[in-house]
Amino acid sequence: MNGSVEEISLGDKLMNAFANAMDFAFGRHHEHMSRVFTIKGRTYQVCCDCGRDFNYSLRMMSIVRH
Ligand SMILES: [Zn+2]
Repeated sequence: MNGSVEEISLGDKLMNAFANAMDFAFGRHHEHMSRVFTIKGRTYQVCCDCGRDFNYSLRMMSIVRH
């Protein structure tokens, strides 16, 4: 009964596609950033929407994305 196995596999693929879409949407949504903080030698900005912090490069004048 390979049919049921393929159905599960297809479901996983759809879930992965959905997760990738969520990653894509989530990665783009950090639009409202706080001012730049420098504390204990670490420079970063905080997203006002979700509270996530991002390393900020003073040399590049932008957030460092991996
Ligand atoms: Zn955010």
